[in-house]
Amino acid sequence: MATGTPLKPETLRTLPSDAVRQIQWRFADRYDLQMLVQSARSVARGPVARLVASGGRNSHDWTPAKAELLGAFDKAGITAVFMEPEHGGFIAGPKNLALALVAFELAWVDGGAATASLAGCLALAPIHERGTPEQQTKYMQLAAPPQPGEDRKPWRGAFCLTEPIPYVGVDTGMLNGKVRIAEWKAGQEPVLQVEKRGRFITNIGFANFVTAAVDSGDERIKGSCIVILEEGDPGTFDRGTPTRKLVHQLSSTGDPIFSLRVPANRIVGGYDIDGGNIVPRYNHSQVIEAVFRRTRVTVGVMTAAKLLSAVEPVIRYQRGRFRGGETATPGSVRYELGLQAREDALHRLVDIWATGEASASLGFAAARAFDELDPLERTVDKLLAEQGVTGAKARMKFLRRASDEAVEILALPGTDSRRRKLESDPLLHFVILDSQADVLCPATKLWNTGWGAQMMREAVSLMGGYGITEDCPGFLGNKWMDAQLEATYEGPEAVQRRQLSITMTNPLFLAQLQAWLREMRAIASERPGTGACTLATAMGMWLWTLERLQSSTDADGGRLYQSARQGVTFPLADALCWLLAARCQVLDALELERRGADDPAVAEGLTGLVNFMTDLCHVQTARASGEAARICAELVFGYNRHPAWDDAGYRGCYQQDELDSLEGIIPGIGAYGLDVIGNDGSHPRKAGPCAKCNGAEQFLSLHAKLATCLTGCRLAKDRAAEAISKLMIPEALDYPA
Ligand SMILES: Cc1cc2nc3c(=O)[nH]c(=O)nc-3n(C[C@H](O)[C@H](O)[C@H](O)COP(=O)(O)OP(=O)(O)OC[C@H]3O[C@@H](n4cnc5c(N)ncnc54)[C@H](O)[C@@H]3O)c2cc1C
Repeated sequence: MATGTPLKPETLRTLPSDAVRQIQWRFADRYDLQMLVQSARSVARGPVARLVASGGRNSHDWTPAKAELLGAFDKAGITAVFMEPEHGGFIAGPKNLALALVAFELAWVDGGAATASLAGCLALAPIHERGTPEQQTKYMQLAAPPQPGEDRKPWRGAFCLTEPIPYVGVDTGMLNGKVRIAEWKAGQEPVLQVEKRGRFITNIGFANFVTAAVDSGDERIKGSCIVILEEGDPGTFDRGTPTRKLVHQLSSTGDPIFSLRVPANRIVGGYDIDGGNIVPRYNHSQVIEAVFRRTRVTVGVMTAAKLLSAVEPVIRYQRGRFRGGETATPGSVRYELGLQAREDALHRLVDIWATGEASASLGFAAARAFDELDPLERTVDKLLAEQGVTGAKARMKFLRRASDEAVEILALPGTDSRRRKLESDPLLHFVILDSQADVLCPATKLWNTGWGAQMMREAVSLMGGYGITEDCPGFLGNKWMDAQLEATYEGPEAVQRRQLSITMTNPLFLAQLQAWLREMRAIASERPGTGACTLATAMGMWLWTLERLQSSTDADGGRLYQSARQGVTFPLADALCWLLAARCQVLDALELERRGADDPAVAEGLTGLVNFMTDLCHVQTARASGEAARICAELVFGYNRHPAWDDAGYRGCYQQDELDSLEGIIPGIGAYGLDVIGNDGSHPRKAGPCAKCNGAEQFLSLHAKLATCLTGCRLAKDRAAEAISKLMIPEALDYPA
């Protein structure tokens, strides 16, 4: 007989498997990447984990034990991921997703190990992105790991941009490193004298070559450039003392000093001779822009890995917390559930897990966007060359025209036949994707690492005192500190916010955000449990706020949305990141639901898994929308001056007399008069007359709507919490503590 109690929906039984992740992060059809994940994992959970567990992080020095990891990376194919097959690599085509997956696996155990591997790619990246074919062939081949039977030590590289204070840091334009012409014999390659001091340079303890940013110190060299230095070059190649850092101890960091003579053909991308001057083809900013655009995504993925890696150790700790005590006998709640009998412990873990999902989804979406963009960029370069478009200015003008057309088409209804052009025309496809990547990259770096570091603290706190000991399973304390470095290097949060404040206002990006808003509403009609509707409302509120800030001033008439006003632009960038990450998470949960049944290993238990992932989406969309709403409200109202009890303030208030006489005409009006000035001039005891909403009625109605859109999000959290308390985990972590 029916009891009237609804059946409990199915839920998660085990931690998400590799097959699940392959579907969510879209590499289920990439066997090469699946194998790469396995080999990176064997290094991470083998030699890397053993080194951390045996105290390898307790020294700043580059030790033989740490150096052994480089060999392990080579053997596992990690070093070769960056290279093209003709240079000793094994992955043809774009490698952003591949590099992100490697970083994810290594950072799951130790961020420093991940950085040691990635810093080699960072050193090669200027050459990969802007190097001459000769430079590419030479350094990629030197850096490629030896083939079986080959007796050769691969070259290691370091990337040297940052300089001692007061020079290069966040502001990459303040270069003190200098390049001069040392010798230039007629008809021969000029010889350059390079002077560069670096600060906090990764891999410097063992690098054989360095890609260094320098400015011209000679009137015969025009502008800045990146120059390749080798350890055998004549002069000083001083690695400096190791940095006494508190984080990423498995990577080598130091403050090197270089004073070297190098041939001019070491200028990355080459140079032209113009009127007796050396003109580098790319200045240092153009090179680093191309480099960081991709490498920052990988850093964001590292912090996502840390959060997701915390789930299993926290569950195990919580469950076992009271076992062995007299009152915790097998079968008792205390024994079986331990701390998981407490709602708060579970809810906090739900938040950490949801953040980890959202940040991984955002990071991998960004990596995939670059994988799609890379070949398109080459197609577009060819197209421009065919049409005779040369030079940066002409290129920009041409692409702007394409962007305008894309914005126009995106505004057409979905049924309009012109919309097909967006996919079929490579130029339009490129500008759309490019504007997306311009936002996704800094968003990943900013939100994943910045917010990720905050949430790692939460993870550590769930382990109590154990969390801040060296014995903590999953090395959570290390990961918390390490996350702060991920938020700092390759440009700290201010750099990402500054970039976002420009790229997020690109009309082409905004047109896509409008489309994503509609997409979220459509998803919500099919899958209300994701909270996608809430997210759509928050996106609308963000768009409204941007428009408002771009067209209004503060109480003193100062323009609000402008580069110097970081108090306006930066928080708005933060708000957007929350929304983007939550959107990617929702899309990945849908992909899992759509494709999960195709894989027998995932199909079993799919309903419960999808239910759980949907609940995590709901938790995150609610949090993200709430954060965005809080930030937007502060920006919309925060720059108006609050009315005071002065003449101007009084003008908006009722006088007691006036209200009394109105009462005769409109009975009850007295109840609505909040700010009433008494006949004796007295006023209510509060900050001033209540502020008006100044044309922000639409904002307020969105705000109120958002509050009610949160309906059900806590039920989702309860369900996710209960699921976590029942989920099966392995007996022990698969890497040492
Ligand atoms: C372990 C480690 C490894 C590293 N590896 C490398 C490497 O391999 N190669 C390399 O070149 N560099 C490397 N770095 C350097 C790193 O990239 C810089 O530390 C980072 O970019 C920040 O620069 P800074 O330390 O000079 O900070 P600062 O520029 O002094 O910034 C300090 C604070 O002020 C804020 N701030 C600065 N300028 C602005 C602004 N205009 N607007 C708003 N806020 C601002 C910043 O956000 C930050 O919060 C490494 C650093 C560390 C710690």
